[in-house]
Amino acid sequence: MSGPARRLLIGNWKMNLTVSDAQAYARTLLPRLKVAGDREIALAPPFTALGAIAPLLKGGPILLAAQNLFWEDEGPYTGEISGPMLQEVGVTYVLVAHSERRRHLEETDRAASRKVAAALRCGLQPVLCVGEDEMERESGRAATVVQTQLARGLEGVAPGAAPRLQIAYEPVWAIGTGKAATPAQAAEMHALIRAELARLLGEAGPGVRILYGGSVTPANVDELMRTPGVDGALVGGASLKADEFARIASYR
Ligand code: PEP
Repeated sequence: MSGPARRLLIGNWKMNLTVSDAQAYARTLLPRLKVAGDREIALAPPFTALGAIAPLLKGGPILLAAQNLFWEDEGPYTGEISGPMLQEVGVTYVLVAHSERRRHLEETDRAASRKVAAALRCGLQPVLCVGEDEMERESGRAATVVQTQLARGLEGVAPGAAPRLQIAYEPVWAIGTGKAATPAQAAEMHALIRAELARLLGEAGPGVRILYGGSVTPANVDELMRTPGVDGALVGGASLKADEFARIASYR
């Protein structure tokens, strides 16, 4: 099977920007974005802003992403949002098991695999986030941690789902710290993830996109996107300003 499709860059706003902020952002970003045909761009606002910016993005080059979903489609799960609800407002991509959710909400690999399955079932494209923390890297366990998160998070995923699946490699020590992985560190881990995907999904493995996330900025995006094995980026802090994200999305 051939390699992954177009590069994918997602701006993850985390718990930032109100509905009116989000609308103003979309109106600023759209005219600034010169999106080449070799990449896809998506924004992941908080749930509250999804429906509000969907009409502004409709028909344009920016897709909608959600930051999370629940694994059931409906029912007595107070506070949760399901795949069909996201589908209805026009969401294409959904983040699963971001490290902030693993850390602050104790999200497990089991929850991750149920969410990946739910996203695929509902016609959404999951972005499974994996990555080691500083202690795990320093103690030489980074590869094992990431392999385990992948194997558990992708449990039950059929090879046929590969073209709709994304992995985001996000070393926890690089998120929000201003200390991005070096291209060499990213290349090494992306190669390891690629090998693990081949083990888990066989010939379909190369169809999965592997994004890098962790302190991506306008200053380092060009180099990171030239790094072997990097099929896109998940951008947090630097996506909060429309100008910065426009520059990142226009990486060269
Ligand atoms: C993220 O939120 O996924 C992220 C990578 O954050 P930042 O770019 O701020 O490090």
